[in-house]
Amino acid sequence: IRNIIDKAIPTGDFGYIMTLVGWAFAVYVSGAVIRFFRTYYGHRVAQKITRDMRNDLYNQYQFLSMSFHDNKKTGELMSRIIDDLNRLQEFVYHGPEAIIGSLVILIGTTVVLFTLSARLTIISLIFVPILLLFSYILMKKMHIAFRNTREHKATMNDRLEDNLAGIKVIKAFANEGFEMDRFAETNQDHTEARMEAIKYSSILFPGSRILNASGILVVLAYGGYLTLNNVITVGTIVAFYGYLMQFREPLLRMVHMAEGLSRFFASMERFFSHLDIKPGIQSKTGKIQDFSLKGEVEFRDVHFAYSTDDKEVLEGISFKAEANKTVALVGPSGAGKTSTVRLIPRLYEVDRGQVLIDGVDVKDYDLNELRNSIAMVMQDDFLFSNTVAENISYGCPGSLREDIIRVAKEANAHQFIMELPHGYDTQVGQRGVKLSGGQRQRISIARAFLKNPRILILDEATSSVDLETEKLIQDAINRVTTGRTTFIIAHRLATIINADNILFIEKGKIAESGNHQELIDRESKYKKFYTMQFQSA
Ligand code: ADP
Repeated sequence: IRNIIDKAIPTGDFGYIMTLVGWAFAVYVSGAVIRFFRTYYGHRVAQKITRDMRNDLYNQYQFLSMSFHDNKKTGELMSRIIDDLNRLQEFVYHGPEAIIGSLVILIGTTVVLFTLSARLTIISLIFVPILLLFSYILMKKMHIAFRNTREHKATMNDRLEDNLAGIKVIKAFANEGFEMDRFAETNQDHTEARMEAIKYSSILFPGSRILNASGILVVLAYGGYLTLNNVITVGTIVAFYGYLMQFREPLLRMVHMAEGLSRFFASMERFFSHLDIKPGIQSKTGKIQDFSLKGEVEFRDVHFAYSTDDKEVLEGISFKAEANKTVALVGPSGAGKTSTVRLIPRLYEVDRGQVLIDGVDVKDYDLNELRNSIAMVMQDDFLFSNTVAENISYGCPGSLREDIIRVAKEANAHQFIMELPHGYDTQVGQRGVKLSGGQRQRISIARAFLKNPRILILDEATSSVDLETEKLIQDAINRVTTGRTTFIIAHRLATIINADNILFIEKGKIAESGNHQELIDRESKYKKFYTMQFQSA
């Protein structure tokens, strides 16, 4: 521009104008090509980085122990995998691009400005420190406001998760109005926090523009004065103005970025705080690989608490279950029956004492192999949003259809499955057919059957079903327990009486043990319990 105004126009050299325009065109074209590569490859790298980080975090959640998951809300973990990593992704691309790009432009432009006119440059850059200070003060206020927003958002997520999961209770107690008010309040807090942040950013951007514009106006005034006095040429002041306009974009972008940067670091911190946790339960190296287990299980003075500051849930449990026998765990609720059986597949780790299978501490087995030799049927087992067949074969993917049907028949589930709209291919769970408690249980039993485990852990449902279903389930249980060591948290009289050994658990200790007849014959706690539970009915 300067050469066109100062040289080409005064001499009337149109050829020179076109040469200069040609050069400028070449510069713009290369700029565009570079921008394409930067955008495309920059985004590609950012996408791949976030993909890997998302996988890492997901895998970490798979491996972290039950104790970790007990203390975490699903909503929070989901927000880390989705929200935080989205924020990271934005920054992984835009951050370096903005910072490096802006610095290059700022430094480059300043150098050029100085060569054009040092005096004018110094005057026009006077506003830069003022602008930076102004932005810094507002950024700090915004940072606090953004942190508040994040906290309010987390509270809202938690409330939402709780609410939607508990919708049945809310309706049953006709508490919709109360819940709506509570949610509206949380939502209002979030909006207010967000408005606070918006207030500062509304001041920041117009404010920085005014400061910037003042710089430009000063240049026009002082530059005009210098031109009038022939210190600089008209071409110089026009070119100077052009460069100064370029100067303002990266400057404003850096101001913008400072906000992103604080959010980025907060997200990184959250990411690593979970990634750095060592899974509490790990396979030992040099572990035992031979898995032709007999299935003898022994507890030796086992003490256990869910967390270090909690009171012990199990206070010295010792017993021995011979291979292929059925052990019933009986006792008041909260006594520690479920906690006891959870220690066998190492869902939790004992604090003191030992759990042994075939005389070997469970800690010395390969963790996957250990868990593969044990099946658990829980009271309200989770069914995945998937077909019936895939739910049954969950522990043994790739099983043949005929095997799936065979175990479903053994579990007395075949008949009702065939009555479902698409038989074994019916979708169940959240997005499919809803099954009754008795039906879900029989699918869980079929799932355990298919795994053909050496050790079976079964938590009998407490919820009552009709007599016929009860009989079908009892039948299935009898079949699934034969030929393997079984632990049943028993609630039905028939199961208790059939068990080879009964452990009566009370307050984290085994109060009594023996078979039904032995325990009934003496004045035992079990006898009292049994009389209250079953005789009064
Ligand atoms: P039972 O199966 O005999 O009803 P549990 O083994 O489920 O008893 O519970 C024993 C105790 O451990 C209870 O006091 C219960 O509150 C506590 N407990 C159970 N599960 C957890 C857990 N995941 N985290 C902390 N405490 C738990």
